[in-house]
Amino acid sequence: MENGRKRQKNVSVTVSFAKVCTDRRMRGEMATLGIPQNTIEILKKYNFTFQKKFGQNFLIDTHVLDKIIQAAGITKEDFVLEIGPGIGTMTQYLCENARKVAAVEIDRNLIPILSETLSGYNNVTVIPGDILKLDINWLAKEYNGGRPIKVVANLPYYITTPIIMGLFENHVPLESITIMVQKEVADRMQAEPGTKAYGALSLAVQYYANPKIVANVPPNCFMPRPKIGSAVIKLSCHEKPPIGVQDEKLLFRIIRASFNQRRKTLQNGLNNSPEIALSKELIAEAIAELKLPPAVRGEALNLQEFAALSNIIGKKMKK
Ligand code: SAM
Repeated sequence: MENGRKRQKNVSVTVSFAKVCTDRRMRGEMATLGIPQNTIEILKKYNFTFQKKFGQNFLIDTHVLDKIIQAAGITKEDFVLEIGPGIGTMTQYLCENARKVAAVEIDRNLIPILSETLSGYNNVTVIPGDILKLDINWLAKEYNGGRPIKVVANLPYYITTPIIMGLFENHVPLESITIMVQKEVADRMQAEPGTKAYGALSLAVQYYANPKIVANVPPNCFMPRPKIGSAVIKLSCHEKPPIGVQDEKLLFRIIRASFNQRRKTLQNGLNNSPEIALSKELIAEAIAELKLPPAVRGEALNLQEFAALSNIIGKKMKK
């Protein structure tokens, strides 16, 4: 009975998988890895073991994959950079929708797998290596003539912030970044002043882009299952920052100092920071010039107010 039930289950998986493949092929698409059965098969074939240190949670849900491609607005004109292709699940979808895809993968054990799973596509280049060490400006020049690129990724969660800030701070020409991240991190990126999630990451992301959460994704959409919920967030990058600031580096020093000690007032936060070389009196003066109450906290200020504060503090530092 047990065996019979198992066999029945396998048959139905095979039939529905075959139907999905046929449907996709009829639409001229070949991506097949979003189906759990196929992911399991390829992992077994290569005897692949997941590496926790590389944040490996592979997507096994075709609806989520479709949603990411749709949210990223990928067209046949686009060059797309994928960070961490894994076994090539999303890469297949990207190849079918974009002009050219470059996929950067740190785990050398995945390279032979990618050779097989991407063998049907002639518009993809797999680059073995660490995304944090790659010259992405060069990549944008080489494959997109230096024009703004689209980045799409199911990011390794242990380096989400360094990857995103690296893209922004190195002034990579960017049109958009559509990424899967921890739900909590997505909430922080999109947070408004005065909320618990609002902080340095919200301000940094919103300085460079307009963030919008496009989907919440439960753990069962991944193999292995992560312990926490995830979300897809699209960052539509500004051509120019939305605010005028004289010294970008000083702005981010002030933001960091303001949120380092969340419970403290803005004045004390800035005063206690070794990054802000200004006396307590001059910091108080700067806050008063902005017509903010002396006991205001950093979390109450929006991006425009931080920019204005940074311009005032910059002037006072020069005197
Ligand atoms: N894109 C695949 C998917 O959705 O199924 C895999 C996503 S998995 C969350 C993250 C991927 O990033 C893994 O393949 C991992 O090996 C890779 N990775 C981790 N750190 C990396 C780094 N510093 N540079 C490039 N790839 C990295």
